[in-house]
Amino acid sequence: MNYEPVIGLEVHVQINTRTKAFTRAPYVFGAEPNTLADPVVMALPGALPVLNKEAVRQAVRAGLMLECKIAERCKWDRKNYFYPDSPKNYQISQYDQPICIGGAVEIELPGPSRNVMGAHRKVKLTRIHLEEDVGKLSHFGNASLVDFNRAGVALLEIVSEPDLYSIEEVFAYLNSLRQSLTAAGISDCDMEKGQMRCDANVSLRPKGTTTLGTRCEIKNLNSISGVRNAVQYEIKRQARALDKGEKIIQQTRRWDAEQGVTQPMRTKEDAHDYRYFPDPDLMPVVIAPEQVEKIAKTLPERPFDRQRRFMQQYDLPYTVTSVLCPTCALGDYFEQALEVYPKNPKGIANLIANDLLRELAAAGRPDEGALPVCQCKIKPAQLAELVKLTDDAVITRQSAKEVFAEMFAAGDDPMAIVERKALKQEKQDDGALEQIVRDALEANPKAVEQYKAGNEKAINAVKGAVMKATQGRANPQTVAELIGKLLS
Ligand code: ADP
Ligand code: MG
Repeated sequence: MNYEPVIGLEVHVQINTRTKAFTRAPYVFGAEPNTLADPVVMALPGALPVLNKEAVRQAVRAGLMLECKIAERCKWDRKNYFYPDSPKNYQISQYDQPICIGGAVEIELPGPSRNVMGAHRKVKLTRIHLEEDVGKLSHFGNASLVDFNRAGVALLEIVSEPDLYSIEEVFAYLNSLRQSLTAAGISDCDMEKGQMRCDANVSLRPKGTTTLGTRCEIKNLNSISGVRNAVQYEIKRQARALDKGEKIIQQTRRWDAEQGVTQPMRTKEDAHDYRYFPDPDLMPVVIAPEQVEKIAKTLPERPFDRQRRFMQQYDLPYTVTSVLCPTCALGDYFEQALEVYPKNPKGIANLIANDLLRELAAAGRPDEGALPVCQCKIKPAQLAELVKLTDDAVITRQSAKEVFAEMFAAGDDPMAIVERKALKQEKQDDGALEQIVRDALEANPKAVEQYKAGNEKAINAVKGAVMKATQGRANPQTVAELIGKLLS
């Protein structure tokens, strides 16, 4: 292809507030339709909006997580349009004075392999503004139903510059955005629950040029695969048109997932079509720098900053940090365990990244994914204790697996399980162990022969026999040493 794609995203994210943006009507996902609407949501005559302070606070937090400048003064505007999912016939939004200005989203591109960190880059943001969500329409044949539960929910619109240049970058951008916002507890960003949705603006330009081409906007993409497929399709469609010498018409398009195509919805509306004007029912918001400073103290470390710190401070390999850091709660869990037993960060990290995550995945329900770490019965201090027991050779690695499984099922302390199951390791220099090794060598002459002939792995048969005879309680290190001693 002789074109470079240029993509700008408008991402809508529902804020986790208990109540809606301009009324105290509550919002929860999945409630019975039309049970979470009140006179303000329904725009009944005389109903007046009241700004939700927490929504503003969370918008400021989002802005700070994403390196924006927080406006000292922002205001509310009416975006006028008629659509059956919006009873007011306008949406309360922010037009020329948004709450957050500029900003950046750090992204990581795929590395040469999964074990190697990819290149990092910052994608520029234009702005973030706060607005209200609209209701949801469902179409059945030639009938449509509307649910106003979602109408009025506090929504962030995060607008990027046209600063993404491939599908991989779009994917990395959405991931990074989600990680930052979930880390700060601003939103769960669950696309399946409609908490994160995206409009993708796509244009092409001849490779090597810098002027922007004419764009098309694909509306309301609500899954990662939807974004990926729609953008991919749109790039191909525009390239084919340009190759034929056609002009791209600036358009709003719709992604048809079933047919795998984008289709024109309408030629692009301009801002004046919305007849924006300041909402006379709502006062502008003034946020003092001291308030911003106070809010900044409530923020977690940015996920990529944490990953770099984990690699440096604890000497963890990239692979493990890229498992621990995208989910803030996992990184927290790791550091809480480390506080109890600071000696072996790698041991703790590996146990979380491998064993704990595997069990959490297995314990999850098929429709909901893995069990979140906050619901895990093993507390960080207990996991740390288990690593310590293994490091101190109180139990073998083999027994540690057994103890771990019990801990996961019941949440007991590791030492209690060790005592209950009599898993304490045999004394290292026990003469009895030497006798067991001797017996095992005699019982496996073939393995010994192969081992002597240079096949190192053959000796595993002897080790296995010793483990069986000791019910897994012998220290593998000691067994290996004894075998070496007896064979020389
Ligand atoms: P609107 O609000 O009408 O959609 P904006 O000017 O606010 O228009 O732009 C919205 C999005 O379109 C932004 O994310 C911006 O980066 C992106 N965008 C603007 N021009 C282009 C272009 N030529 N190619 C790709 N994306 C673009
Ligand atoms: Mg737009």
